[in-house]
Amino acid sequence: MTSYNNYRDLAAFLDASPVNFWAVNTVAEHLVAMGFKELKMNDPWTIQPGDRYFVTKNDSAIFAFIAGHGPVTSGYKIISAHSDSPGFRIKPNCEMLCDGNIVKLNTEVYGGPILYTWFDRPLSLAGRVILRSDDPLHPQRRLVKFDRHLLTIPHLAIHFNRAVNEGNPLSKQKDMLPVLGRVAEPSQAKGLVKRLVAEKLGINAEDIIDYDLSLFDTTRASIVGLNGEYITSGRIDDLSMAHAALCALLDTSANICNMTRVMAIFDNEETGSGTKQGAGSPILDYILRRINIAMGGNDVDYMRAVDNSFMISADDAHGIHPNYPEKQDPTNHPTVGGGPVVKINANCKYMSDADSAAVFASLCERAGVNCQYFVNHSDVAGGSTLGNILTGQIPLRGVDVGAAIWAMHSARETASLSDHNDMIAAFSTFYRL
Ligand code: ZN
Repeated sequence: MTSYNNYRDLAAFLDASPVNFWAVNTVAEHLVAMGFKELKMNDPWTIQPGDRYFVTKNDSAIFAFIAGHGPVTSGYKIISAHSDSPGFRIKPNCEMLCDGNIVKLNTEVYGGPILYTWFDRPLSLAGRVILRSDDPLHPQRRLVKFDRHLLTIPHLAIHFNRAVNEGNPLSKQKDMLPVLGRVAEPSQAKGLVKRLVAEKLGINAEDIIDYDLSLFDTTRASIVGLNGEYITSGRIDDLSMAHAALCALLDTSANICNMTRVMAIFDNEETGSGTKQGAGSPILDYILRRINIAMGGNDVDYMRAVDNSFMISADDAHGIHPNYPEKQDPTNHPTVGGGPVVKINANCKYMSDADSAAVFASLCERAGVNCQYFVNHSDVAGGSTLGNILTGQIPLRGVDVGAAIWAMHSARETASLSDHNDMIAAFSTFYRL
């Protein structure tokens, strides 16, 4: 269980959510505490207007909704974000025995981390383990997280590479493997991670069939800056937006609303959303259809509801970097601390268009917060996000937004606390409509 009660505490939220599975667990705990009931996709659903529900997929994506009071054709107000962050996954048969009985772990890079930000930090392991059960089709699933500093990726000393500060290409397979520690006997290396997990969970190592384990930086989120205006932490992209969506949903949950309010936190955005729990799958379409059916709607009602819907796809944006102003578009300079950012791309990598961007600008105006715009410098290829991918499944009207941050995909990113509050204000205004 999380060790805090105030869902508005972003630092505590980030610290409690070291990987996708734990982020979903943290969100679910807050939803349950606010009276949301869990539904299962393989059960029949009975839904009453105004009631609060959530559904998880693969333990790593979560969808919460408050059923609307209006006709089913009123549609959905959706805020989406993602639970995953770039980093390192532990491979099968991961233990590698080195000189001096030192054990390092074999890892695979997940998404696009800035590799050298992971060196020389206290790291640990978190994720999900799969345990033997009587039914081979349905093994048991358990979350696991080590609270102690278990690993580190030591950088090569400068004396072995004097040119290190002139640019140093890194091999994901050679340079980035974390050291777990020293064993007394070489025979103790094999299966060490499973034995550690078994000890942590109080189970037999033989019962662990498989795992989804990742490294995480154990350094806690910190408030920094002259006036404490910034927060630095791992996973700000995109857990800060998941947190802002959660706060807005919970803050406005007592409001009566014709449209169904939906919070959709997908997994695997960092690898292109192409999984059953990602935005490229029909999972959200299934859930919205199920809500429509459970409230008495038919197929045409559903299509009418989708046409009346609006989605805010929330994923962090790039703030202008004080050391690299030349990287930004000449006329659009979103600043960290300057308010929520609408993301625009002429080649439709974002779902924003003038119509949907205007909706978000109006929401910001009504919330009393400043609204900024991000467009790529035309010679710099930018990123993408899940909003546009989702429209391949559901033809939703919507906008891509985010808070402006620094060092996106670093092990430690920096965001502004005032932007975070402004984002919650804009999202709450949307959910209150
Ligand atoms: Zn993101």
